[in-house]
Amino acid sequence: MKILIVGAGASGMVAAINYKRNHKDDEVLVIEHLEQPLKKILVSGNGKCNLGNSKIDFNLYNNPEFAKQIINGYNYKEFFSSISIETKLNGELAYPVSESAVSVKEALLLEGHKRGIEISYGEKLIDFSVNNQIEVTTSKRKLVVDKLILAGGLKSSPKLGSDGSVLDILSKHGYKIRIPQPGLSPLFTKEKTRTIDGVRVKANVSLVSDGKLVHKELGEVLFKEHGLSGIVIFNTMSLISREPKKTHKIYLDLLPDFSDEYLKNYRNSHKFSEFLLAFLNPKIANYLRDRFKNENELFSSIKGLEFNFDKSYGFDFSQVSIGGVDVSEVDEKLMSRREKGVYIIGELLDIDGPCGGYNLTWAFASAIKSTK
Ligand SMILES: Cc1cc2nc3c(=O)[nH]c(=O)nc-3n(C[C@H](O)[C@H](O)[C@H](O)COP(=O)(O)OP(=O)(O)OC[C@H]3O[C@@H](n4cnc5c(N)ncnc54)[C@H](O)[C@@H]3O)c2cc1C
Repeated sequence: MKILIVGAGASGMVAAINYKRNHKDDEVLVIEHLEQPLKKILVSGNGKCNLGNSKIDFNLYNNPEFAKQIINGYNYKEFFSSISIETKLNGELAYPVSESAVSVKEALLLEGHKRGIEISYGEKLIDFSVNNQIEVTTSKRKLVVDKLILAGGLKSSPKLGSDGSVLDILSKHGYKIRIPQPGLSPLFTKEKTRTIDGVRVKANVSLVSDGKLVHKELGEVLFKEHGLSGIVIFNTMSLISREPKKTHKIYLDLLPDFSDEYLKNYRNSHKFSEFLLAFLNPKIANYLRDRFKNENELFSSIKGLEFNFDKSYGFDFSQVSIGGVDVSEVDEKLMSRREKGVYIIGELLDIDGPCGGYNLTWAFASAIKSTK
């Protein structure tokens, strides 16, 4: 048997390794249009690679039932240990003990090499057709293969390789697709935030979509010149991208550790300027003074500072794409229902999760499921 895997990224490399472990006599070729593999792995988790999560909450994926069906049974500890990467937890987030994404990349390549997997760089999938056999056209040659695994990712951070080209091919083949939107990225707000650019605050962030509260999360928010950033904002951006037609407002509780009651009492027993000094970063206090006409309005904004969503920072700043091939297009082993012998894995499928190891978990688990 000859197996072709498109994309030497997170899911493609794990699929190649797992396939070869289960079918050692088959020939496995990975094509990668860049000159290097695993570019996204190298930058993941700020260079530390948050490769898993010990307490995955499936409800945080956009399609919990499907994600659960594929991920159940996958054990990141077991898989990474089998390629000499021991893991440790920071809270529930799993990292390699080395705290280095380079070691994850090296271990995947070493295992691939040991098992005789061939990787061809600078070779791009152009198209394929499925009749009695799978005929593949790449930028370098024509191939006939028995199984084709598509692991080309979607459109986030295109400099790292995922340019949406595989999705375009599947779109031409008639697959049902949800048009990708940037997820896990900073966002622009209609309100200017230039004077607090660079300020970080711990805030309780609420997302209200078409007037309905849909998400609340505590975390660090980083103000940008024209908007908001930080992990909690990345997660919020993904939820916005899942509902692109709705109107979204973001509210920040700037003092999540203090109750309304406590703040009211403090304010009543102090001058307003003393109250602001006691609780707020002076830059934030000045920003609020500029934004609100009177002290009562300013005071109310502290536990619910409103921002109107404008747009995301785009795919260049996005860690995961929202959308992709509809999961109804694949069976429980991720084989296409339209084109026998073709498998679709990783981000290419319409599954996304929040920050915290959810997206690499999906990429690795789907790779393993498709190659059992
Ligand atoms: C900055 C950043 C940090 C991140 N940090 C984390 C983290 O810590 N934890 C986490 O869980 N997730 C993280 N993610 C998300 C995670 O990296 C992705 O979800 C995951 O890499 C997706 O895996 P994939 O195999 O589907 O796609 P990719 O890893 O994007 O791999 C796709 C590969 O296919 C190649 N390719 C594309 N088209 C073609 C073609 N036509 N022909 C040949 N090759 C092609 C690409 O060059 C690429 O190598 C992060 C993402 C970014 C951008």
